[in-house]
Amino acid sequence: MSKTIAWIGLGYMGNPMSQNMIEAGYSVRGYDIDSDAQNRAKKNGVIITNSIAEACQGAEAIFTMLPTGKEVKEVLTGSDGVFAHADSNALVIDCSTIGIDMAGEIHKCSDNAGSRFVEAPVSGGTEGARDATLTFMMGGKESDIPQATSLLEHLGEYIAHVGGPQAGQAAKVVNNLIMAVCVTVNCEATALAERLGLDLKAMFDIVTHSSGDNWTFRLWNPAPGVVPDAPSSHEFKAGFKTWLLAKDLSLALTAGRSVGLNISTAEAAHRLMDNHAQSGCADMDATSLLLSLSSKNKVPDKEQALS
Ligand code: NAD
Repeated sequence: MSKTIAWIGLGYMGNPMSQNMIEAGYSVRGYDIDSDAQNRAKKNGVIITNSIAEACQGAEAIFTMLPTGKEVKEVLTGSDGVFAHADSNALVIDCSTIGIDMAGEIHKCSDNAGSRFVEAPVSGGTEGARDATLTFMMGGKESDIPQATSLLEHLGEYIAHVGGPQAGQAAKVVNNLIMAVCVTVNCEATALAERLGLDLKAMFDIVTHSSGDNWTFRLWNPAPGVVPDAPSSHEFKAGFKTWLLAKDLSLALTAGRSVGLNISTAEAAHRLMDNHAQSGCADMDATSLLLSLSSKNKVPDKEQALS
């Protein structure tokens, strides 16, 4: 009989990650509030359930991959949630980006419920989720790490145990500060290149052989048609949603304030991304910021952006 896990949150990341667990031989019981996400996952072989309790039945591990700490807290600690329904020995692994304070709250709730919880936020984007090449940053009790590592090995290539509770989210906040500022500046640089009359494909080749090269410029280049796999070449369909990138920048700002550090690049990037999200582009890929800076490409109206 195959081993069983539960997967809650079957979006851009959760869908390919849960598929990789099926490919590794697990039976996956899935739950998502969105019917499109349910249907996509069902096509991949996920057994869609009608409740969190049903998803948790017989699962040795329960994964969550949800937008923010708010949803993770509801799903894990609610009266119909995971801690109330998971088998007593099941390991709960949250892969979402939820910030340092929220991770601390959830570790406490888990301890109070007598549950086992590891935070394991990820880096590597939807490409890494698809190819099982993600990086994981785990925070949790030493005793839970070997089982978490053996499960995450099916999903990623670099699995770091950063430290105890909150350490994984702390590492993720630092990484995503760099990533999100790079995405923002890549959009500004691309808009500048365009306005200076430079060829954007030629600029891609120059920058990727120069000191401006960065991971997000290569994989998520903002110029449509330059990188075939990038969201910009697919009408900015996410990808990494603009509002989630703004959320990550806000988590970095909160973390900075908590230690008396003013991160002004994050402040500027957050302002740009947050305004862009509020202009109707929240669910488009974050590189669609180019559309609001470009002289040629234009921000679509709200309905087009979401279609
Ligand atoms: P997404 O919006 O595509 O997916 C989230 C899914 O959660 C959606 O399908 C949504 O319907 C579901 N959901 C929301 N509330 C729910 C609830 N109460 N119960 C069950 N399901 C619920 O987002 P994503 O891009 O998959 O990102 C997920 C997390 O991973 C976020 O924290 C994000 O910051 C992080 N992350 C994303 C990327 C990326 O490239 N997209 C990379 C690394 C980390």
